[in-house]
Amino acid sequence: MSGGARHDLPETDDFTRPYWDAAAHGRLLLRRCGDCGRAHHYPREFCPHCWAGEDRVTWETASGRAALYTWSVIHRNDLPPFGTRVPYTAAVVDLAEGPRMMTEVVDCDAADLRIGMPLTVTFRESADGVWVAVFRPDAQSSPPQGQSSSRTQDPPAARR
Ligand SMILES: [Zn+2]
Repeated sequence: MSGGARHDLPETDDFTRPYWDAAAHGRLLLRRCGDCGRAHHYPREFCPHCWAGEDRVTWETASGRAALYTWSVIHRNDLPPFGTRVPYTAAVVDLAEGPRMMTEVVDCDAADLRIGMPLTVTFRESADGVWVAVFRPDAQSSPPQGQSSSRTQDPPAARR
């Protein structure tokens, strides 16, 4: 059940297979170094912070929480299949564990994007069985616009 070749498909090898297998099950994996304790993304066999070898770096499941660092709304991309997806929001996010990750923000109007806004990971099937991590606004940790707190609960005075 492997898909055909396409421009947007990740290269999967023995090293990155655990990452893609986890993504297909809705989990975002990071690599964490046992020597310096820092996590990184995208996955590398060695630690990019202290150059510890692959025997010191292990997979761990990320919380999936992130903050928006920067973004760019893409209106044109000639590389298939992206041309059919425009406009989309290419973004860089800061994962809660520290690593900065290039991704895409979905389910959010460009006008509502804010630096630092909380995001949560979700996965999109990019091809047969290949799921890529994208991010959407984290509704639970951020009431939109700060004015809408009354939607969750009536103030005590209004109930009486
Ligand atoms: Zn390290």
